[in-house]
Amino acid sequence: MSVNISSDSSIILINLDGLRKDKIDSCPNLKSFRDNNTYFSKMISVAPYTLAAHYSIFSGLHPSQNGVDAYYHMFRFKENEITTLAQLLNNAGYHTRCDVISENIIPKQGFDKITLFDKTVDYKSRHSEIINETSKHEKFFLFLHFNGIHDRLVEEVLKKYDPEANDDEYFKKIDENEIRYESFLPECDGYVKEIIKTVEKLPNKDKVVLIFFADHGASIGEKQGEKFYGVFTYDYTIKVFSIIHIPHEKPQLVNSQCRTLDLYPTIGNLANIPKDKFDPMIQGSSLLPLINNQETKERDVFVETGGLYGPWPSPEKHNIFCVRLNGKKLIYNDTPETWEFYDLTKDPSELHNEYDEKSNEISSLKHLLISYLKENQIETKISQ
Ligand SMILES: [Zn+2]
Repeated sequence: MSVNISSDSSIILINLDGLRKDKIDSCPNLKSFRDNNTYFSKMISVAPYTLAAHYSIFSGLHPSQNGVDAYYHMFRFKENEITTLAQLLNNAGYHTRCDVISENIIPKQGFDKITLFDKTVDYKSRHSEIINETSKHEKFFLFLHFNGIHDRLVEEVLKKYDPEANDDEYFKKIDENEIRYESFLPECDGYVKEIIKTVEKLPNKDKVVLIFFADHGASIGEKQGEKFYGVFTYDYTIKVFSIIHIPHEKPQLVNSQCRTLDLYPTIGNLANIPKDKFDPMIQGSSLLPLINNQETKERDVFVETGGLYGPWPSPEKHNIFCVRLNGKKLIYNDTPETWEFYDLTKDPSELHNEYDEKSNEISSLKHLLISYLKENQIETKISQ
């Protein structure tokens, strides 16, 4: 691997919760950080809602394998069977710390210190202080949760519109929804600026890997029935990003498709931890080979969800699944047993469902998706 890896790197991983990838350009500080570092532009979240996304990232496993495979399965994480990312680093001598809105949204195991904030938090000063305090440890792993966009969505969308109404005014006001969403961005970008400034002042900054990512995007009303996220698997929520600052590494734009699951082995690599210490079951693959174009075959991605609201709510069991590969997406809605197919290159907004049972291309994607469901023991009407 020709990426510069310091044997004693520290890692700061920050979730800009709910930040749409297409809005990075409206965030000047994040945009500049993106342009000067390694940017994974085509990262897909394997589960487009915070809870399942976090558990997947920290376990390197799809929801069905780690146990958190529904909104209401928050407490089903298979903690005794999985070596989490925090444990991996902790076992390797790292001080591990996180600051999150609730201790239930990540696996707690492996963290030396877990602190919680509430809605009144000043993210900039709180997280800068935490970075300064944590960096006193020689090697550290710090996970920070910026929940500002999520909170604003709750205040200004969830409380304004009935989340259970699937065809109300919200869907007729996309322009207004977009302006509202953009009004959330300055706070997020100001936070990013402060974090970068704080990290740049650290005495050991040359050994700090800084990662900003989003766990999912958000709807602005593109598809009737989804006001926020977690209801469907369209690109506006599943297509996310990671921007990784690796000290002494040249900026790179990586356009290859990858998965949020891939962060676990990537961080393991960046911390120089031997692969045999990783959980042997992980389903993600390191992103480092993508940096140097060492892969020719695109990584397939499987995404699943089950909404709290929307037209087919299913908080006890995922019921929406998709496979995304080579610019095409096949979606299977187990409720109400329908299929959708989109050519994302010519139809990036997924407006024209071109599902056709006779198409060979669609059959092969269907085969991939059904194999995924079977291999992961996911019960649906098509994988019995
Ligand atoms: Zn989230």
